[in-house]
Amino acid sequence: MHPLIVKDVRKKFRQGDRWIQALAGISLTVEQGNFLAIMGASGSGKSTLLHLMAGLTNPDDGQVLINDTDLSKMNDRQLTLFRRHQIGLIFQAFNLIPTLSAEENLRLPLLLDGTSDEQIVAKSDSLLAQLGLLERRTHRPDALSGGEQQRIAIGRALITDPAVILADEPTGNLDSANSQSVCELLHKLCTEQHRTILMVTHEPSVAVWASEVAILKDGKLVTRFATEGIDAEALAIRYQEALKNN
Ligand code: ADP
Ligand code: MG
Repeated sequence: MHPLIVKDVRKKFRQGDRWIQALAGISLTVEQGNFLAIMGASGSGKSTLLHLMAGLTNPDDGQVLINDTDLSKMNDRQLTLFRRHQIGLIFQAFNLIPTLSAEENLRLPLLLDGTSDEQIVAKSDSLLAQLGLLERRTHRPDALSGGEQQRIAIGRALITDPAVILADEPTGNLDSANSQSVCELLHKLCTEQHRTILMVTHEPSVAVWASEVAILKDGKLVTRFATEGIDAEALAIRYQEALKNN
């Protein structure tokens, strides 16, 4: 079973009187415990691809399978439930509820789910410890740093043990120190817990934390390679070359 398989997905959008081919046939597989970064310039189709993988948009053509389940075969209700359990979503904006504490935000997906109070407490305590945020549990989002807020959002995405974590520019709103703490956490989730993560970013210093990088250009996947032995500087060069030569 594969956490994520994308088969030849295509998607076009109408902009005024013309059509934009946002995705022009993309296929990829992410193995269990892999951390794949998707890089590409603005407008290359990264967010569209992530939205398709999350079942938030339908492809014009092609398929997305999460744990061997074809998203296109589900109705809206089934998809909503499937997404809640199997897909952890993280965005650039942390999307925390401002009137709830860090801990309450973290627990939200389980409250929707009818999980018992005991299980909720056990799960959220263990997650807060992993996130290094036990002492910040009662703080509201506005009393947390950007990095802490995003780590809570990551915890919220993890709390249902989804098949795959999908993150769209998760460090886009963070300074470099906070960005580093979020990257370290994602890296640790992959190496220590074998979580499966797909992260969109255009920053080589962020992508280098992933185990593999795939580069998109004009809605097509132009290359994919492992980051082993590559530092951020070398990755930046490789990224520029891939965009120039394809
Ligand atoms: P990225 O995330 O790499 O910046 P996107 O996936 O957001 O790129 O967009 C890819 C292309 O599709 C862009 O040209 C964008 O303008 C277009 N696009 C994305 N979403 C829509 C939409 N809902 N309506 C019209 N055009 C869209
Ligand atoms: Mg985007």
